[in-house]
Amino acid sequence: MSNAPLLFTPGPLTTSVTVKQAMLQDYGSRDFAFVKAVKDIRDGLLELANVSRDKGYECVIVQGSGTFGVESVISSVVGERDKLLILVNGAYGERIAKMAKIHKLNHHIVRFEEDAIVTPEVVESYLKEDAAITHVACIHSETTTGLFNPVKDIGAVCKKYGKVFIVDAMSSFGGVVMDMADMYIDFLVSSSNKCIEGVPGFAFALCKRSELEKAKGQGRSLSLDLYDQWAGLEASGQFRFTPPTLSIMAFRQALAELQEEGGVAARERRYKSNKQILDDGMAALGFKQYLSADIQGHIITSFLYPDNPSFRFDSFYKKLNERGFVIYPGKLSKTDAFRIGNIGQIFPVDVRSLLAAIKEVLLEDKVVIE
Ligand SMILES: *Cc1c(COP(=O)(O)O)cnc(C)c1O
Repeated sequence: MSNAPLLFTPGPLTTSVTVKQAMLQDYGSRDFAFVKAVKDIRDGLLELANVSRDKGYECVIVQGSGTFGVESVISSVVGERDKLLILVNGAYGERIAKMAKIHKLNHHIVRFEEDAIVTPEVVESYLKEDAAITHVACIHSETTTGLFNPVKDIGAVCKKYGKVFIVDAMSSFGGVVMDMADMYIDFLVSSSNKCIEGVPGFAFALCKRSELEKAKGQGRSLSLDLYDQWAGLEASGQFRFTPPTLSIMAFRQALAELQEEGGVAARERRYKSNKQILDDGMAALGFKQYLSADIQGHIITSFLYPDNPSFRFDSFYKKLNERGFVIYPGKLSKTDAFRIGNIGQIFPVDVRSLLAAIKEVLLEDKVVIE
């Protein structure tokens, strides 16, 4: 295990040995222990968002990666006569726009620059102008760049105009303290392999029950029908189709480890320390960041390629990989950059090791001369 690579990516992430060990036993889908784990996870996730069933919220688990969860919500909750406003400032916002197109939803896309946040003022101008809009979708932590959109302020505008607010909080939930009701979020989507530090296998949607109930009979896909998935889980505590049994067992362990760490607030602090060490170390090596600091989140950072012809990303990536560090290529439409995440089982000592390896590789490739 000690030579296992460390993943400085936005997911799948480095997981603990104990999370991996939770997958060593097989479970049938009707196994009592498994059904109990599903129930514990559904309740535990609501608690992380500071809501509960008593307060009118529900957790629906959807098999597949995070995108399956977003598509389940988008394709189920926007009715035939509804209209979705999609706020885009990166690849994940574009992905929702693509879903709206495929499912033939009435929708309108508002695009912002990749290095700028979605502003509540612009959202308000659209809601004021177009009374047909019923739903608004936004990304919280836009993993394309690493920026945080001001979801609470956007939620307040949605609340003011009585719109349903859908948030892809995939790469932030569990790593940022969030109160779903306080942020006026009606549907919040995340997945098993991001800040809760489980393994891939499923997404989950935290839903305001009164809005989820409206989705009955309007899903546009059998397997991604959010209401039917919820109804199935409610009726028997089981999934409609083969569940990701091992991923669920690993996730229950991951949730317990999140509590042991001190909850979301403690995890947020660890990620922020990782980020601070990374920022300082990369600046010392001469790297510049793509985003301005005021909109940069603490989940993942985009670094510009050094302005030096000796720098070759392929070599940089490969040599870091050989040393056991996996970083992430860029996804920007106009700029050459790479990304480094600080989420998962990554600690300050690991970030320092990564920085030392980066320095070594830069020297070897003669990007920096000592
Ligand atoms: C990871 C991520 C997703 C989901 O991606 P999958 O590859 O389907 O797991 C969606 N939105 C954001 C912002 C993400 O970071």
